[in-house]
Amino acid sequence: ETIGANLERTAQRFPQATAVIDVPTGRTWTYAEFNAEVNAVAAGLLARGIGAGDRVGIWSPNCAEWTVAQYATAKAGAILVNVDPAYRQSELDFVVRQSGMRMLLTAPSEKRSDYAAMAQTALESGGSLTALVHLAGDGAGSFNALARAGRAAGAAGEAAVAERMAGLRPGDPINIQYTSGTTGFPKGATLTHANILNNGYFIGELLDYTEADRVVLPVPFYHCFGMVIGNLAALSHGAATVIPSRTFDAGAALAAVQAHGGTSLYGVPTMFIAELGLPDFDRYDLSTLRTGVMAGSPCPEEIMKRVIAEMNMNEVAICYGMTETSPVSTMTRGGDSLARRTRTVGRTMPHLESQVVDPGTGEQVPFGAIGELCTRGYSVMTGYWNQPDATAEAIDADGWMHTGDLARMDEEGYVSIEGRIKDMVIRGGENIYPREIEEFLYTHPDIQDVQVIGIPDERYGEELMACIIPVPGAPAPDTASIAEFCSGALAHYKIPKYVQIRGSFPMTVSGKIRKVAMREEAVGRLA
Ligand code: ATP
Ligand code: MG
Repeated sequence: ETIGANLERTAQRFPQATAVIDVPTGRTWTYAEFNAEVNAVAAGLLARGIGAGDRVGIWSPNCAEWTVAQYATAKAGAILVNVDPAYRQSELDFVVRQSGMRMLLTAPSEKRSDYAAMAQTALESGGSLTALVHLAGDGAGSFNALARAGRAAGAAGEAAVAERMAGLRPGDPINIQYTSGTTGFPKGATLTHANILNNGYFIGELLDYTEADRVVLPVPFYHCFGMVIGNLAALSHGAATVIPSRTFDAGAALAAVQAHGGTSLYGVPTMFIAELGLPDFDRYDLSTLRTGVMAGSPCPEEIMKRVIAEMNMNEVAICYGMTETSPVSTMTRGGDSLARRTRTVGRTMPHLESQVVDPGTGEQVPFGAIGELCTRGYSVMTGYWNQPDATAEAIDADGWMHTGDLARMDEEGYVSIEGRIKDMVIRGGENIYPREIEEFLYTHPDIQDVQVIGIPDERYGEELMACIIPVPGAPAPDTASIAEFCSGALAHYKIPKYVQIRGSFPMTVSGKIRKVAMREEAVGRLA
């Protein structure tokens, strides 16, 4: 089944159920209305000459038009290119060129970003890009005008969409998603209908989504967390998606849960940390919540426990995955013990395989030993867009995607992530996994958030630094007090030599902490 056909079927089953709630504008769509809007935009895209396989970019913070565009491009057989809303001119130009983008859907200008002006510059640069569509407003060149043109085409427009859809296959590419760029330059993962629709569908199955669910999504749509784990998982099961704000806002997320009876709430760990840390946290009624997803980076056990106990999210799941695998490859399940739901990333998703190998030899390591996690099956991307060398490096001849993450698997198949290979610290010949020290420091009463990084050192090769965001109002821990806290609990070589107090961490838009940037900054400050 293709993504467009899946929406048709859901809209026939649940025409009156709510599909999308956009909190900033107060607008809502039933499935029947949403599907009709998608059809109008798809017809408008065809009328503008968008062909199957043409690249259509979207560069915008979260909004309902994003979700409409996601499905409309899928029905039109175009390849949607997700552009990070944090990008600026040179990065936009790169993605436009790299993907051979023909049309760009873009957001209105706002305080922090003049999207319209930068998009215009990209248009005028004389490359493949020949059309801009503005997601806001009503005039010529707006998304609304595109939908109006599609509606005006009437039965002929509908027939054109039906004909295009009849020619699409589940194995056709539908989406280019760039990786977060946490460890280097982002790469464009080419994903098919089958890749992301199946992944989204199984995530929704494991979260028991039905038309009664309201899934609150403060995570970015440009990233697979919002687009697949959020939109596709919910909308393939007749559940409603709730868009609390354009970009993440902790108070807006909790207010949306309360106002719209949210049953599920998503976030990267730092988002949940920010929500739990709101001074008026107790004021929000979260009693309708039952589940949600924490994913994207290591999910601290302490935070998982608090989300379960204080946010009423008894069934919250941890998902692990990467853009290249559509994204989710392992996930915790409702029936797992509390320890496994808070300490592991669960077991492999249905119809996928996982293995842990020695990164040097490629041989499987024994249960319980650390190695590189690899994923194989329907969710693995077809490759990086126009980057055959990078693809060959990531996916081996047997079809295994090498994740670059260190993990262990127990005998029952539960996986725990020990960190990225690139983040491992080697101090005086000892391999140190910062994750382990972070987990311990999260138990410190004065620490709200903490990241541990390696700092170059003449004597030991690397030394550890703990970068700490203290609990508001609490005394900021210093090197001596951290050493005292750790002594007896951690081996001496795992005790951070440096402590840095910070107000925030440098982040990607997808909510990942840019440890590479933190390391460079810390080295600069120490020098
Ligand atoms: P880039 O590949 O460009 O450096 P990135 O790897 O951060 O960026 P994504 O595809 O968005 O880009 O993120 C996938 C990575 O996120 C995984 O490889 C893993 O390191 C991390 N990750 C995702 N979920 C979890 C989780 N539940 N626990 C620990 N780490 C996670
Ligand atoms: Mg990656």
